[in-house]
Amino acid sequence: MHDETPACEQDDELSVLNPCFLGSSGENSELFERVLLDLVRDHVYWRRNFHPEDPPPIPMLAVHQPEYVDFVDRMRTELNALTAALKRSVPFFNPRYLGHMVSDTLLPGLLAQLVTTLYNPNNVSPEAAPVTLDLELRVAEQLACMLGFAIDPERVPCAWGHLASGGTLANFESLVNLRAVRCYPLAVKDALLATRLALPLSVAAGRPLRELDDWTLFNLPLDEVMELPQRLAAQLREHATPLEARRLRQALTQARAECTGLVNFAERHPVCAQMSVLVPVTAHYSWRKAAKVLGFGSAQLLEVPVDHHMRMSMAALKQQLAECARQKIPVLAVVAVLGTTEFGTLDPLQEIAELRDHSRAHGLEFALHVDAAWGGYLASIFREPDGSLAAYDSVRKGFRYFPSAPVYASFAALKRADSVTVDPHKLGYLPYGIGGIIWRDRRVRDFLGETAPYAFDHNGSSDADDRPAQLGQYILEGSKPGAAAAAAWVTHRVLPLDRAHLGRLQRHTILASEYFYERLPAVAQRLAGRARLVVPFEPDTNLLCLAVNPEGNRSLAAMNRFGERLYTHLSIDPGQPVQLRDFFSSHTRVARDMLGSEDLSRVLSALGIAADTFTVVVEDQQTQADSLFLLRHTLMNPWLLKSRGGQNPLDRYLEYLEELILAELELGAWRGAGGARKHSAARKQRA
Ligand SMILES: *Cc1c(COP(=O)(O)O)cnc(C)c1O
Repeated sequence: MHDETPACEQDDELSVLNPCFLGSSGENSELFERVLLDLVRDHVYWRRNFHPEDPPPIPMLAVHQPEYVDFVDRMRTELNALTAALKRSVPFFNPRYLGHMVSDTLLPGLLAQLVTTLYNPNNVSPEAAPVTLDLELRVAEQLACMLGFAIDPERVPCAWGHLASGGTLANFESLVNLRAVRCYPLAVKDALLATRLALPLSVAAGRPLRELDDWTLFNLPLDEVMELPQRLAAQLREHATPLEARRLRQALTQARAECTGLVNFAERHPVCAQMSVLVPVTAHYSWRKAAKVLGFGSAQLLEVPVDHHMRMSMAALKQQLAECARQKIPVLAVVAVLGTTEFGTLDPLQEIAELRDHSRAHGLEFALHVDAAWGGYLASIFREPDGSLAAYDSVRKGFRYFPSAPVYASFAALKRADSVTVDPHKLGYLPYGIGGIIWRDRRVRDFLGETAPYAFDHNGSSDADDRPAQLGQYILEGSKPGAAAAAAWVTHRVLPLDRAHLGRLQRHTILASEYFYERLPAVAQRLAGRARLVVPFEPDTNLLCLAVNPEGNRSLAAMNRFGERLYTHLSIDPGQPVQLRDFFSSHTRVARDMLGSEDLSRVLSALGIAADTFTVVVEDQQTQADSLFLLRHTLMNPWLLKSRGGQNPLDRYLEYLEELILAELELGAWRGAGGARKHSAARKQRA
């Protein structure tokens, strides 16, 4: 759009965002204050009007008591000390901040969260959150629609989800729940054998469940397992006495992995001992945490290599699955990342979903979880206000390159996932503490719960009631802020999750990335002969990584030192006021084994680095390194393309980066010990 589109049109587009944020210099402070004050007063009236006949416990005269005065004095002193210290925070809201996955927060959400905190609802249960618990479930429906899931309670499947403290917890939950579901048929078999109850329960195309081996039971299609609790309940009602039904329910509870413990369960069902989870090598480290904490063991987290786009390699995934089938290693789930944390790239979701169907037909089942903690909200770009998927051409029109066909296909295939992690506190522009997980099929709840809803007391499932009364029963967390749900709800009401509303904000992040990407060759050109500026992986979305190598340097260790030098000027220095920083970026490191050999030589030759300096084991610190240092930019600030004086913040950043590169080349500190001396001398000179 950039060159062709007149500046005024771009400005019109941007003006939509004017009221959305407090603003990088607090431009909307008056609006913010006015609304906040109004809402705070409204809260106070609400307090006052709850039994106004009661005498207030704090007397008017209290303000004159010495203890009162002393308390206020100490409180204000400490609050002032706090806010003074907070001035050392990172200015996320400013377009000079291009670092991590955070930016300014949307005013509707910020205000909703601040004011709801005054009411302090706890979404663990409806008694503690009569209003916000319902909002949380509705927020999950909003997110489900954005992702393309069906939410009609009259139909199967109907999505369900909830908020969590963040993507980490959401990812944990996906594995906990999927394990509960996948192991369930094995426990049913145990319970049937233990009670000798003759139920005609058949699965896998009419075969009696009790006669199937563990491998087959673990590999039953997920949708078939989802029906099992209800089918079992129906059969118990029909074929068993109440006493028999009770005995079976007890036996089932006792046979489940949640009761026996994983060690005993795996002893009884050796096939489950090596239950594995497949993730791309680019997966967020929360997956390694999950594998450890949940008792899978990090050895059971199988990392699948990526291709030159930093997307999960389908060839490698196929190979890994074939190996699992051959060795009878059960695959709990394949995790696809939609928006990798380091590169913003998207795993080929459609192809993975197709592979799943194929694999299912061949007896190797796996659940498909999508970690869209980062990229989930980008789905709003693809959603029409009526809920349908926007056509490829019509999405394409709004951009220069985005979305490539594979990118579009991945977003279109989101609805085929079994569960999706999506973080409102990332691209939802909401304050921290708001993550989320959405399940395609709410019947997952029939396998969870502290009071065992699979004990099917009523009509066999929680399907009749789509509002689980006690959220705390089904999820990993206990007490949780209703303010988080309120923030997401209000934001999604003001800016619905479609391309006409929140999608416009998302679109700007992509436009900024396209702009940035297009400006890089000119910078590289100007630096030619002095340094090489390389984009090692073509960006899929709104994250962009850069490598810079001084011309003539062949050593990766030296190139990394150069990058680290640049980064010291682009990162927070706790010893210095943030005001002294011009710009912020972040960094990442690509480990040697993350790159295939072809990619490795492509990137290294573009940089002019000798291949033998990129090693798995470093023998010479001076020249060799086991990872490649990259400057990483998250382009999510809404004002990156806002021109003032003919330049926008991205132009200014690139200019700054160029100067920085030249200055560091001049200093030569990256060369090593000799260079460092030269550097401190030069620094003195500059000062
Ligand atoms: C940020 C992120 C997470 C973790 O989310 P938190 O909210 O930080 O817990 C997980 N996966 C991906 C892909 C992420 O980008």
